[in-house]
Amino acid sequence: MPWKWYDSKVVKIEAQGPNTKRFWLEAPTEEVLDFQAGQFVTMDLPIHDKRLKRWRSYSIANPPDKSNLLEFSIVKLDGGAASDYLFDEVGIGTPIRFKGPSGTFTLPEPIEKDLVLICTGTGVAPFRSMIWDIYNQNKTHRNIHLIFGTRFLDGLLYRDEFEELMQKMPGFRYSVALSREKDVAPTKGSLDLHLGYVHPIYLEAYQTARPDVDFYLCGWSNMIDDAVANLIIKLGYDKSQIHYELYG
Ligand SMILES: Cc1cc2nc3c(=O)[nH]c(=O)nc-3n(C[C@H](O)[C@H](O)[C@H](O)COP(=O)(O)OP(=O)(O)OC[C@H]3O[C@@H](n4cnc5c(N)ncnc54)[C@H](O)[C@@H]3O)c2cc1C
Repeated sequence: MPWKWYDSKVVKIEAQGPNTKRFWLEAPTEEVLDFQAGQFVTMDLPIHDKRLKRWRSYSIANPPDKSNLLEFSIVKLDGGAASDYLFDEVGIGTPIRFKGPSGTFTLPEPIEKDLVLICTGTGVAPFRSMIWDIYNQNKTHRNIHLIFGTRFLDGLLYRDEFEELMQKMPGFRYSVALSREKDVAPTKGSLDLHLGYVHPIYLEAYQTARPDVDFYLCGWSNMIDDAVANLIIKLGYDKSQIHYELYG
């Protein structure tokens, strides 16, 4: 579906983790706002005179459900123009114009390979949409391994949902990497929790290059650059098995 501009309003905001918020936008339009899990929209925010400098993209965090309600998980970057606006000035009822849906960071249909979804921080947004979409639509799938990295335990976005999915979605595995925690043993519970970065998790779990697995990476360049290099150079995966959405 080609993208178009929508005039939406913020209908709900919720704190999520130490520097992240969930924003819900409602687009009051007669037609259904259709999108594919994994896609993003581009918001035109009043942060600059020049049109292109006002545009910021955000992944849709909820699965498609034929409603005109979209959820976003957005991190506040120090000194970021959009971050400052969204966190300090936007409230319930604020109008936000966005275009979309856009992007090809989506899963194939049918899903015929194992999926390894690797992300840091709000890079989890498209994966939350994809995983719930597979679950809600009862889509055929094989193993799905979500590897989520953040600094501290309180930054585990959507943790309850992923723990719930581990119980009710066959083949779903959830691993987390905390890069700044020193010791989390007492709170670990049944979580597959690692101290450090996301990289050792997939380096160990997928060390034998297999043709029947695809990797999806989402987040910032520091994580994605290293992960792509590791998968291709260290583990010998083919480029065609690696898909990514770069936030910046
Ligand atoms: C397709 C796509 C989807 C995206 N989806 C999301 C999403 O779902 N959630 C989300 O939070 N963001 C997402 N982003 C990033 C988002 O578009 C903005 O780039 C981000 O919000 C920063 O905008 P800003 O105006 O606040 O910062 P800017 O004013 O653009 O930049 C602020 C400063 O932060 C620096 N900076 C950049 N990255 C980092 C970092 N990781 N840590 C510290 N400093 C950094 C920049 O170099 C700059 O100096 C997405 C980006 C793309 C391209």
